[in-house]
Amino acid sequence: MKRILLLILAVWWAGGVQGQTKQANAARKSKADAAWVKNIPVEEVIKWRRHIHQNPEISFKEEQTSKYVEDVLKSMGNIEVSRPAKTSVIGVLKGAKPGKTVAFRADMDALPMQEETDLPFKSKNDGVMHSCGHDAHTAMLLGTAATLSRMQKELPGTVYFIFQHAEETPPGGAIDVINSGALKGVEAFFGMHVLPDFPAGHVGILPVGAASTAQDIFNLNIIGKGSHGSMPHLGIDPIVVGAAIVSALQTVVSRNVEPGEMTVVTIGKFQSGDAFNVIADRAELAASIRTTSDKTRKQVEERIKEIIESITKAYGATYELDYINTYPAIQNDEALNAHARKSAVAALGKEQIFDAPMMTASEDFAYYRKIAPVSFMTLGIGKGPANHNPGFTVEESALQNGVKAQVQIILDYLNK
Ligand SMILES: [Zn+2]
Ligand SMILES: [Zn+2]
Repeated sequence: MKRILLLILAVWWAGGVQGQTKQANAARKSKADAAWVKNIPVEEVIKWRRHIHQNPEISFKEEQTSKYVEDVLKSMGNIEVSRPAKTSVIGVLKGAKPGKTVAFRADMDALPMQEETDLPFKSKNDGVMHSCGHDAHTAMLLGTAATLSRMQKELPGTVYFIFQHAEETPPGGAIDVINSGALKGVEAFFGMHVLPDFPAGHVGILPVGAASTAQDIFNLNIIGKGSHGSMPHLGIDPIVVGAAIVSALQTVVSRNVEPGEMTVVTIGKFQSGDAFNVIADRAELAASIRTTSDKTRKQVEERIKEIIESITKAYGATYELDYINTYPAIQNDEALNAHARKSAVAALGKEQIFDAPMMTASEDFAYYRKIAPVSFMTLGIGKGPANHNPGFTVEESALQNGVKAQVQIILDYLNK
């Protein structure tokens, strides 16, 4: 029984890969492709992606994944491999001619959640899943590295392939990679994120300026004074203080932030009290704050701190506040964005390029702007559940287009 099942699975799997290849060939024939397109290892990209998908590891623990990536890069023969952090890998391809230095980044971490797909290569690690598509990012960038490594002789300049750990968990892995000093001299950074609900293989150019949001968090403890429910004059009610704070915080967006500056202040947690006739002595609040510019981010933080300080004081309570700045917003560079669009159109035709709306999520790719201008884009992966959903899947036919766009973006940048 088991053997029959295995046989069916094997036939299904092979059929899947063959199907992808047929689709890929059809895509290739649809327009006059550059000569290098035939060097894209389409089937290996799918194989790499499935291996990584099946063996997911959470942020900062990408030990097997980074080893796998390192081995694949080394097998290409002409890529220098280094470790800027324990579970990050950088591959450097030095072209035969001098020129500029450009980097493309993929992230490698998975999420602590149970996969609920019925893929034959579903996660083997209980409670860990590649539900954000970082398996696809890693496989595509390996495909890009393999394709370019075969063009070393005609390549001017240097390409950095960044396989980064821990995108999902602040403080994130990008900061470690940057602080390692390994990216000195890089003049431009590109990145690509898979996104469901857009046609598979279509590249979405995100806006110039804020392409994602900055995320900050606060945890607040309001310390009042417990009392009998019938004797409020002897207590300080932290629920009343908290309610006043929650109400006042709504005015940060509506009254302080310039209209048109996308800002969100969400109080996601407000817990206090155990009994109807007891005035509690503490209340706990937590909030998530999204902004898109450094100026507004700072302004919102200052206003929130002022409101908490003044209201607790007015009510005679005290407080403990932990305000945490996580990732800033990605700020897409205008010239690099135009470059990415032009190259993506050249690689895939303009009918496969679309204007993607700003991502409301946050991404530590934003930090690479500390070194050089950045451009982040999306890749459609067909209809399906959102990123971070236990049923998240990637339509693999999209991956070849992702590699094509990446290679073209890098080649055009170096040849400009
Ligand atoms: Zn994610
Ligand atoms: Zn992601």
